[in-house]
Amino acid sequence: MNLILLGAPGAGKGTQAEVICDKLQIPAISTGNIIREALKNGTELGQKAKSYMDAGSLVPDEVVIAIIKERLAQEDCKNGFILDGFPRTVPQAEALDAMGVVIHKVLDIEVPDETIQKRLSGRRVCESCGASYHVDFKPSSKGEMCDKCGGKLVIRKDDQPETVKERLKVYHESTEPLCDYYRKAGKLTVIEGQEEVAQTSALVLKALEA
Ligand code: ADP
Ligand code: ZN
Repeated sequence: MNLILLGAPGAGKGTQAEVICDKLQIPAISTGNIIREALKNGTELGQKAKSYMDAGSLVPDEVVIAIIKERLAQEDCKNGFILDGFPRTVPQAEALDAMGVVIHKVLDIEVPDETIQKRLSGRRVCESCGASYHVDFKPSSKGEMCDKCGGKLVIRKDDQPETVKERLKVYHESTEPLCDYYRKAGKLTVIEGQEEVAQTSALVLKALEA
């Protein structure tokens, strides 16, 4: 199954992507993680993306489209994949269609802006593997270290309050129109993000069975 997860930054797309990945054994592909990895490795792509990302703006369409094209061509995507954070604009969705990529379902995880602000301020990510945590809602059992790989947990630069405000604005302007795009295509399921991660996961898995 080829899936897209939509939702504001901090809606929990990454967390739910992992849950689906475990359940269906298909890769979860996060453009944000791919870009952060490139940044860490000092590649040309990373350098190109850095200023946009730090400001809370979107990286130009042609850059992320090229990333996704390359990633989806890899062997492990043959039996399906979960896109987390792509597409984020209508032109990106159109590019996916133009590549001939068939999307079976699009899940939109809806969470109010106030909740987002609260969540992102407590978010921590693993410097090494990119796993995501929250100091209150999803702490690592190893404290300041990653449960999965022992890496150091850090605050993302774009999780600062001012940048979060900008990211939410960008989300409403550029990404939310995708709900209509996929609703018209008959592919959209809206999921109300719950307070408990597990409750949201239950709704997500139910939506995949339907
Ligand atoms: P979140 O969903 O929490 O905002 P991501 O890790 O998905 O975080 O993305 C972080 C940043 O990476 C975005 O703010 C943007 O700058 C860049 N980015 C990721 N995916 C895309 C995309 N599809 N189009 C443009 N920019 C992107
Ligand atoms: Zn880790």
